[in-house]
Amino acid sequence: MTPELLEAGAEALHKHQHPNNAGESGGRAASYGRVVEPDQLDVTHGSILYLDDISVSFDGFKALNKLCLNIAVGEMRCIIGPNGAGKTTMMDVITGKTRPDAGTAYFGSTIDLLARRENEIAQIGIGRKFQKPTVFEQLSVFENLELALKADRRARASVFFRLKSEQLDRIGEMLKLIHLKDQAQRTAGLLSHGQKQWLEIGMLLMQDPKLLLLDEPVAGMTDEETERTAELFLSLEGAHSLVVVEHDMKFINELTTRGANADRKRVTVLHEGSVLAEGKLADVQSNEKVVEVYLGR
Ligand code: ADP
Ligand code: MG
Repeated sequence: MTPELLEAGAEALHKHQHPNNAGESGGRAASYGRVVEPDQLDVTHGSILYLDDISVSFDGFKALNKLCLNIAVGEMRCIIGPNGAGKTTMMDVITGKTRPDAGTAYFGSTIDLLARRENEIAQIGIGRKFQKPTVFEQLSVFENLELALKADRRARASVFFRLKSEQLDRIGEMLKLIHLKDQAQRTAGLLSHGQKQWLEIGMLLMQDPKLLLLDEPVAGMTDEETERTAELFLSLEGAHSLVVVEHDMKFINELTTRGANADRKRVTVLHEGSVLAEGKLADVQSNEKVVEVYLGR
């Protein structure tokens, strides 16, 4: 048995014996004075992601220049901006792929992302969708989701106490959510581009990330696929926090003018590695600087 699996087993046993401490947040566990475990997300101050003064240089070129970003728990934040603005680099910093030269990055109020490795950051609840779909092409849709479930530490922990049928149910629900129920046994490599994107999003969701970073998720999708992706993201809002980078303004419009918090949703415009504008979609769209560097192209 691997150390990780041993640890998962011990964790499951602990939760079984102390059911009142099992929750990650909420209830008594969220009150003041509790002890926060090193990997436990603490969002009692309302913020799930906090970037401050982040700078990244590549051979003297500033890809990020004192970037600041604050995402609230359950928020859906859309990020737009011209090519080269630093959007992907920002995701690289959040996920530990690139170390900034300066700045601060926190997940919740206690987890210092700059002190964590890439695999640790994924495990503590930050999921990332890269631009290109990356699924296991040789495996079926179902097997892809199954693998993603097995990669989840908490799911492994639960193997000891929960029925396998419960996991099957979870995969079934996910297939429905990502519109691939009829394709479950299909080889993933045969799916359309849009379906592969959904499958990868489903795989991310199997690991129940608290924060999801999505880099140009609808690029190359048909209008209908884009529409369905908007529905999917809107259904995740609240339970997950989402940071969505996109150029498709119709899609951004869908995401920001619908859903429960539509009147409070904000869009961030990046330009030359920092925030050029931030606010309601209508306001940033009519912002002169934004029109000049991005929308007026
Ligand atoms: P965006 O995603 O907004 O289009 P990126 O974050 O990919 O922008 O890139 C920002 C800038 O940083 C670009 O000018 C890009 O060429 C540069 N850049 C990104 N990654 C690297 C790297 N690994 N080495 C050198 N330059 C890079
Ligand atoms: Mg990019």
